[in-house]
Amino acid sequence: MSTMNTNRVRAIEKIAAYKGDYSVSEASFPPEEYGKYVFSEKMIKKYLPKESAEKLLATIREQKPLDPTIADDVANAMKEWAISLGATHYTHWFQPLNGGTAEKHDAFLELSETGEPIKVFSGKKLIKGEPDASSFPSGGLRCTFEARGYTAWDPTSPAFVKRHRNGTTLCIPTIFCSYNGEILDKKTPVLRSIKALEKAVKRLMALFARSEKPVKVSLGAEQEYFLIDRNFYLNRPDLVQTGRTLFGSAPPRNKQLVDHYFGSIRPEILAFMTDVDHELWRLGIPSKTRHNETAPAQFEVAPIFEELNVAVDHNMLLMDILKRTAIRHGMVCLLHEKPFAGVNGSGKHNNWSITYGGHNLLNPGSNPEQNAVFLTVLAAIIRAVDLHSDILRASTVSAGNKYRLGMGEAPPVIISISLGETLTEILDRLGSHEEVASKPAEMMRIGVDTLPPLPRDNTDRNRTSPFAFTGNKFEFRACGSGQSCAGFNTVLNTIIAESIDVIAERLEKLDRSDKEAFHTGLTAVIAQIIRKHRRIIFNGNNYSPEWVNEAERRGLPNVRKSIEALRAYIKPENVEMFSRYGVFSKAEIVSRFEVFRNDYHSRVRIEGGMALEIARTMILPVVNRQYREALETLQAARGAKSKHGIAAAENLADSFGDLLDQLHQGCEALETALGGEHEGIIDNMKRLREIVDHAEDMVDDALWPLPKYREMLFIYN
Ligand code: ADP
Ligand code: MG
Repeated sequence: MSTMNTNRVRAIEKIAAYKGDYSVSEASFPPEEYGKYVFSEKMIKKYLPKESAEKLLATIREQKPLDPTIADDVANAMKEWAISLGATHYTHWFQPLNGGTAEKHDAFLELSETGEPIKVFSGKKLIKGEPDASSFPSGGLRCTFEARGYTAWDPTSPAFVKRHRNGTTLCIPTIFCSYNGEILDKKTPVLRSIKALEKAVKRLMALFARSEKPVKVSLGAEQEYFLIDRNFYLNRPDLVQTGRTLFGSAPPRNKQLVDHYFGSIRPEILAFMTDVDHELWRLGIPSKTRHNETAPAQFEVAPIFEELNVAVDHNMLLMDILKRTAIRHGMVCLLHEKPFAGVNGSGKHNNWSITYGGHNLLNPGSNPEQNAVFLTVLAAIIRAVDLHSDILRASTVSAGNKYRLGMGEAPPVIISISLGETLTEILDRLGSHEEVASKPAEMMRIGVDTLPPLPRDNTDRNRTSPFAFTGNKFEFRACGSGQSCAGFNTVLNTIIAESIDVIAERLEKLDRSDKEAFHTGLTAVIAQIIRKHRRIIFNGNNYSPEWVNEAERRGLPNVRKSIEALRAYIKPENVEMFSRYGVFSKAEIVSRFEVFRNDYHSRVRIEGGMALEIARTMILPVVNRQYREALETLQAARGAKSKHGIAAAENLADSFGDLLDQLHQGCEALETALGGEHEGIIDNMKRLREIVDHAEDMVDDALWPLPKYREMLFIYN
């Protein structure tokens, strides 16, 4: 037994010994519990004096600054409501640049003069917090000695209560900025970009609609994740430290059997999902679908789309809940984009749409007027994505997503739009407007012709496109599972606002008193945009090598390197656009670039250090031991009477000796690389991985220290 690797074996034994919990309890999802943990409109009305409630609701609806005179009322109401749900503490809940969420808890406790506890929460504390911010990334915006940062309440995202095992905490969504007012979080730019887009849409719609109506941007984020047993996780220092496996040989049974996707969900997993849904239910997060995903041990959850601001927060909460619930089930939820090499990674499909007065502008519609609006908005999006694909690409950069994009399982880093054949044909006919002007019968005229009904299924089929039109929304699929939705949507809103403005400006010059003339002019504007930006439309297979060549021929950027891609943020024209739209000041966008770059570099460095440690202290000793044993066998075989086994022993000793050399050299090389640039680290990690994975295929299974892919991935399959 002493030869067995005890950690790994013990992990498997523990899992095998677990008899399973077959007791059946019914989770209930009563309607009155939906959103119970949200300080909703209903709760606002219940807990606030009538006048203050009305003022607060107006603030929320019109997204206006809060009337400070009602702050104390609101704080008190929130406190009473939260205490009724067991809260002892409150926290300003915010989204710093490290990509997660942050909270610093304060008890509602104060002491009276006689030392009695009193529960208080003031308007001042609600509106503004001053956490010591020195440990959050700021990209140089705030020196560490100026530790002060401010959190400011964002009334447009509702406060909520977060539960833990024996209590609850009142969470107040806030934005986070520096002493000088520069933003240090991921949420503020989302809010600013929504404002910018709203303004542009209202400007455009003034040309079509009789009265101004509210604009709403929506997001439905599909979330993919892996679940593995915690016993395995704890024996994989790479997973614990970096979120992904740095080593691991792909098992014989891998992708060949497409038996997991949409398969029947295992009871253990379903119990987990139900608990997640239960938690989401109480937080008013409308969880809609759950299913097995493509890879073994991979799953997906998707809520119904919501107003963008809230959906961004909800996705952050969802990721948190997935992780916390997994622990309760003896599992670990991996949100990394590529936890297992050679196995499909995880994405986050970002479904985006926009409405005006409740009408979805991405709905082709049933009358010429609606078609005109639809085609105009579509043209704006096509222009935006073609002109700014660089920043969209930048928004998908993460140390994890780099292993997923363009690997024949997820969209490539070349950004293109898929529209489906029918819609593309319509646009092409529009685009060729001038050329076919002599043949009016074939000419399509906006505002006169009605679009043929677009078959939804048809447009939905291209699963390889990074940016697909799916009937009434755009689905950005290059997004990483572990990333916050804030970044992609800030970029999307801003670039689309810019294009809508450009189109609106052209249309404003047309004579609007003559409807016919206006529509002819509009057709010309759209036709010109289609012709100019047609190259971004691609309905074919984005995974195929031919597309790479075709994209190059079309002049579409193909920026493979993450840091190079990130540089799009600081291109002068992009800096100018972000600041013109009030989304980022120059200092803010530059600081973001610094933060993302540092984050990327640190993660690569941590991975490199971890890979070296595992290879040296866990793998090298077993290879060493195997080599020694092979030598002993060889010696014994040579001394034996029989000639059998000598050739094999020679062969084994040779193989293990060679492996030992390679492994030793691989470690030395990685160690040297760790003193240099990140690219050297990545290359050397890759080389070392090949050696270690080869070792995994050779070394005595009983000696192998790391839980194997075939164990981790198939336990719940
Ligand atoms: P799939 O991409 O899996 O075929 P669905 O049609 O079920 O997906 O939608 C996926 C996500 O898109 C869900 O979160 C859904 O709520 C969201 N979604 C649906 N319609 C819209 C819309 N108009 N705007 C934004 N998101 C939407
Ligand atoms: Mg989808």
